Amino acid sequence: MDLTEYEGASPATDASATVEHVTHHRRWSPKRESRDDCPNCGEEFELADRHVLVTLTRGNADAGERHYFCDAACVGEWLNGDAT
Ligand SMILES: [Zn+2]
Repeated sequence: MDLTEYEGASPATDASATVEHVTHHRRWSPKRESRDDCPNCGEEFELADRHVLVTLTRGNADAGERHYFCDAACVGEWLNGDAT
């Protein structure tokens, strides 16, 4: 599935937010090791590894909220609110 299909959607759990941008992402930080938990499945992953970055906007806020997911399937489940 094309990640751009998620753009413009609102998370089932947060109707006030809108998905502005979805992209594959990899943080390159040679000195710092950073990890994050997927908001959908709770899986911990390295931000230096390929993952999916979702930017949300809310109202008139200029700065987008950044959320990191382990893969595109988790983005879809999170948006639809049908995670198992
Ligand atoms: Zn996940």
